[in-house]
Amino acid sequence: MREERIIHGVVASVGTAVGKAVRTFDPLFVSFNFKLRPDQVRKEVERFRGSVEKSREQLKRMQSELRKNSGPESSFLIDAHLLVLQDRLFVDRIIEKVETDCINSEWAIQQVSDELFQAYDRLNDEYLRERRGDLDDIVRRLLHNLQSKPLPSFKKLPYDAILVGKLVPPSTLFELRSQRIVGLATETGSPLSHTAIMARSLEIPAIVGASELAEVASGDVLIVDGERGIVIWSPSDETVAQYKNRDRDGKKLKKKPATSISAPSITEDSVQISLGANINFSEEVRAAAAQGCEFIGLYRTEFDFFREGKQPDEESLVADYSLVLKSAKGSPVTFRTIDVGIDQKSWDGVNMNLGVRGLRFCLENTDIFKKQLRSLYRASVHGPTRILLPFVSSVDDLDAAHAVIEEVRRELQARRHRYDPNVPIGVMIETPAAAQTCDLMASLVDFFCLGTNDLIQYYLVVDRSDQSVVHLYNPFHPAILRCLQQVSTLLRPTGKPVTVCGEMAADPPSAAVLLGLGFTSLSVSLAAYSRIKRMIRSVSMSQLKDLAGEIMKMHKPKEVEEMVRAAVYRT
Ligand code: PEP
Ligand code: MG
Repeated sequence: MREERIIHGVVASVGTAVGKAVRTFDPLFVSFNFKLRPDQVRKEVERFRGSVEKSREQLKRMQSELRKNSGPESSFLIDAHLLVLQDRLFVDRIIEKVETDCINSEWAIQQVSDELFQAYDRLNDEYLRERRGDLDDIVRRLLHNLQSKPLPSFKKLPYDAILVGKLVPPSTLFELRSQRIVGLATETGSPLSHTAIMARSLEIPAIVGASELAEVASGDVLIVDGERGIVIWSPSDETVAQYKNRDRDGKKLKKKPATSISAPSITEDSVQISLGANINFSEEVRAAAAQGCEFIGLYRTEFDFFREGKQPDEESLVADYSLVLKSAKGSPVTFRTIDVGIDQKSWDGVNMNLGVRGLRFCLENTDIFKKQLRSLYRASVHGPTRILLPFVSSVDDLDAAHAVIEEVRRELQARRHRYDPNVPIGVMIETPAAAQTCDLMASLVDFFCLGTNDLIQYYLVVDRSDQSVVHLYNPFHPAILRCLQQVSTLLRPTGKPVTVCGEMAADPPSAAVLLGLGFTSLSVSLAAYSRIKRMIRSVSMSQLKDLAGEIMKMHKPKEVEEMVRAAVYRT
């Protein structure tokens, strides 16, 4: 038996979980490794052969199209892929693995391709070494075709699955959400990534950036400790028992909310604070309404938009958004238009955080943007709707967005669709450029949302999804405090409302700083809602203003944090 081992990582979502590792193989084609019963093997081999056949047909079709349109040279590339599918060393070896080791096809593909990749990497000839790309491609195709069949599904996961992988995309985590997934542990990533935010909203304990997890195999027992930032690999029976007891105590505490739902978000000296909820998928809106949240300050629509792996049609979007508005029971819902880019690295590792994100993506893909806007407007008759544009960096961006919005409204009128013509349009302040020029944008918008997650990343030049620099990400940095103060000062005379919806609003000390700097509307995840309400009810605004004055004079983030913590927790 293996010795208990501690693997260090970074907490992405609190809580603890004891369970069995289920490795995801490839971040884009998530698959699981399973042991099969001997009577399941024959069917599994057929499943694999089906995927080989399907891949061959696709490649042949591609080849004949290429021959027609681009001449014979390019079709030779496909020959290389077809040859891999005929290679006995590859296909037969996979079947042999399934049969002798009683494992599912995905696992067998992974093992055989890993061996071949290593052989390629050892080759001296650079050209031949580069051919590993063909193998890589065919592996993806086979996996994809295996997955387009009903098997394997999360229904095959054990009831205490801990997803382990290099990285697990947020949409995958969302798709797989179920009673079966109790924890998440990834080799890369940071607590600021969308996967981490998703884990928090699903209340799944999660550790990210734990590179030593690479050695963990499916079936290994793990404990995810989202308090200490560790994963315990092969824990002793004693350790497991300790954690299970702790889990029971934690559940008892959770049942007793410390602040009642109906208690107003008001400071000790009677200053009213607006407190909204951030949601990442439509189903959360019911929980938000049940928890008495005043409004939805941020609905990150991209997760639902790309949920099925393909674009939804307009009618289903209208139905989904209408349901969200009806479920909100009259509370305003802020729909942020899709923000793609974050947490997505292209295959060559280029960082999308600095590329085509948010509104930039929408302006380059106006058919997607217009479809979403049309759907939002059409749904707007069902409840107070707000449209929020992410990743804006100039007045020109805004002009371009308004032109598309105008076009959409004209289309809706021409098609005689009903919609609310007064839907407020807002802008995320989450780039340094927007922070510096928000006053210039004020006459073009109805409201602002301050996205501190991105603002801090771009201000401090710290990639929020890169674990190696996460220690440099600090909301108490004087540069951030000055930036926030500037935004507050620039926006005050405009009279335009601003809600802070980044994670800075969800942590009591940094949220207290925001209040002291004059931000009186916050929006946080459901998991943080009652803790922030409790903080608001326990502080005095006049003291927070004095505190803000003090920290603006300080030089070091650590000193600021210590002073704020002492004030908030009254130590
Ligand atoms: C932000 O950047 O602060 C924000 C709320 O948006 P997201 O985390 O989705 O980038
Ligand atoms: Mg953002």
